[in-house]
Amino acid sequence: MTLTDSRQTRSAERSVHFRTCPLCEATCGLEVTVEGGSPSNSSVVRIRGDREDVFSKGFICPKGSTLKQLHEDPDRLRSPMVERDGRHVPVRWDEAFAEVEQRLMPILEDHGREAAAIYHGNPSVHNHASTIYARALISAVATPNLYSAGTVDQMPRHASSGFLYGDPLAFPLPDIDRTDYLLMLGANPYESNGSLATAPDFPGRMQAIQDRGGKIVVVDPRRTKTAKAADEHLAIRPGGDAAWLAAIANVLFAEGLVDTGDAGPHLDGVDHVQALVAPFRPEAVEPATWIAPDVTRRIAREVVAAPTAAVYGRIGTNTVPFGTLASWLTDVVTTLTGNLDRPGGMMWAHPAHLGPRKDGPGRGFTTGRRSTRVSGHPEVHGQFPVAALPEEIETPGQGKIRALITVAGNPARSIPDSDRTEAALASLDVMISVDPYLNETTRFADVILPPPSQLERSHYDLAFYGQAVRNIANYSPALFEADGPREEDIIARLACIASGLGADADPQIIHDMTLDTVLRGCVKPGRALEGRDVAELRAQLGDRSPADRVLEVMLRSGWAGDHFGARPDGLTMEKLESNPHGIDLGPMAPQLPGLLRTTSGRVELAAAPLAADVARLERSLTELADGPVLVSRRHLRSNNSWMHNVNVLVKGRERCTLQVHPDDATDWGVHDGGHARITSAAGSVVAPVEVTDDIAPSVVSLPYGWGHGVPGTQLSVAAGRPGVNSNILTDGSILDPLSGNAVLNGIPVTVVPAETAPPEPMETT
Ligand code: SF4
Repeated sequence: MTLTDSRQTRSAERSVHFRTCPLCEATCGLEVTVEGGSPSNSSVVRIRGDREDVFSKGFICPKGSTLKQLHEDPDRLRSPMVERDGRHVPVRWDEAFAEVEQRLMPILEDHGREAAAIYHGNPSVHNHASTIYARALISAVATPNLYSAGTVDQMPRHASSGFLYGDPLAFPLPDIDRTDYLLMLGANPYESNGSLATAPDFPGRMQAIQDRGGKIVVVDPRRTKTAKAADEHLAIRPGGDAAWLAAIANVLFAEGLVDTGDAGPHLDGVDHVQALVAPFRPEAVEPATWIAPDVTRRIAREVVAAPTAAVYGRIGTNTVPFGTLASWLTDVVTTLTGNLDRPGGMMWAHPAHLGPRKDGPGRGFTTGRRSTRVSGHPEVHGQFPVAALPEEIETPGQGKIRALITVAGNPARSIPDSDRTEAALASLDVMISVDPYLNETTRFADVILPPPSQLERSHYDLAFYGQAVRNIANYSPALFEADGPREEDIIARLACIASGLGADADPQIIHDMTLDTVLRGCVKPGRALEGRDVAELRAQLGDRSPADRVLEVMLRSGWAGDHFGARPDGLTMEKLESNPHGIDLGPMAPQLPGLLRTTSGRVELAAAPLAADVARLERSLTELADGPVLVSRRHLRSNNSWMHNVNVLVKGRERCTLQVHPDDATDWGVHDGGHARITSAAGSVVAPVEVTDDIAPSVVSLPYGWGHGVPGTQLSVAAGRPGVNSNILTDGSILDPLSGNAVLNGIPVTVVPAETAPPEPMETT
């Protein structure tokens, strides 16, 4: 491998490089030591936390040091693969793109663009090249059928922010470093390091709250590691978060505790909210939440009494039938207690690549600009619910999806109803995947195009600095040169094919178009570089990769940027390159009203779609099913479905277990170390049993993202520790209607002893 001339300190044998970990949202700084300076013999010898990183200050989790293993993984694809006679065989890049053209274009020509779909998986947003070039691919394919992992676990947050603030990306974030009281629902940052709240060393930041005399309350059906570290844990009924938050709001109104603070002048709908939450008295929600009325009242009073408080809800609150209402109600409680947009409360990031905020009305947020063909699910934030993808592939008729392009995604494991999903993927006329692995999804692909490894590409957290609890900018150049094309080259060539230019077209066409689009956006009226000459700006750009040139425009035209020379002290790529530990742009600052993009220019606290869904929540209080329900869980040594091929992460005790409360274990006749069969309306699996009182009675839990070792995959380590796929049990027809998000938690199941373990995994490729 060839060592690039990235930022480093160097001795004769070893060089030290600093880069941001791209694996999760925490954006930790890494110190990477490489041995061997010659092109052919360089290798990573150590990865540890970068103690000088301005944000993470040396923190690292077990995944961060495995970039070496991921880079060197013999199962990682180094050349494109084409399916021939039922097997995937390696081919040259030109051959692979020719195959894409040959297989994809007849489908588009014969059946129209609506016969195609694109799915972006979670790692796409951990890669600025993929993020920037998504638009080019979507424009070229010209299909309305856009799907992503966003409708697996976070679309409720987008929808509620869209309705409230007019911007689906405006996520209020817990100002964890200054808060006095953190009320956390359905979040387990001890395992997942913060989610939609970028905060490296979240556990350390929680400890700091307690050290300064603050309090942390965790609301979760499981007594997670996070709950154990908190001052108080409330074991809520799965799916009960929205009703409980409505009850908190009810108490605030009933006891005259509402004080909206500095956000007050920017709010509409407070009185309407009072009417909406009126039915949700603590007594009324107790059966649906398992939380005693006196506790609900006490927590409401504590949030008000705390000098500052942050109310933060995450995956557990989003992956339920009332996900959008739960997201909305976290913000309602925040707002009614005066904690919206104030230090120590819930605030917004202002990432360096965005322009200055401006007061005044925006374009607002609408959903349902189009609907899915089969079930009529509305589009939300430009996407359809991915849980509905299988029926769009299966169902005959005009608009049936016949061609699928996946980018860094594994829907065969990450979306509900895996058996049905796999059958649908297998029935496609053509599937093209940009992915480094031959996994449970890409085994159905006609052509797999592997991008460079995480160490072979530059990195800037475009997505996650937009949800970081401090404003940070940190750029990492590629550490090694890739043997194959860059990710943006792969996507650009796909875009060339899909737009009819052909497999041999020069991808520079797409690079030029992408850069021009961004440059022209910057000089529009009202933008930071209004009136500037695009050619003059382009001439100022450095000699960088295509994606990095776009990134350079975004950063230099952002609020912190140098505006191409107009603000000489502003941010430039050179400045980032000479600050390998990152640049700290300061804590979050109040941003109302400039952040608001609603048509009213105000926070629409009782936006009509949200208000209309409250009746459904009220009905649910009396429509409670009996019997156990399944919830999913995450683990620190896992990352959705895609890091189970790293031996150092999966070795050791079995973690893919069914957690069962001791009382339930007795009732159901299952025992610790034995096996149980779990059956839902969608399917049935057998899993090893872990009896623990860390889970509430009548709730069982399986981890998310497992189920490896299936034929046609090339994941040798994962095949040896396959685990159980919890998404065999989830039902793709049940969605949060406002966001289209999948429901992964609160799944009714039965549990019975299984006499034997499931069969050994089958041989993989
Ligand atoms: S917490 Fe996330 S960003 Fe930090 S080292 Fe672990 S995987 Fe990487």
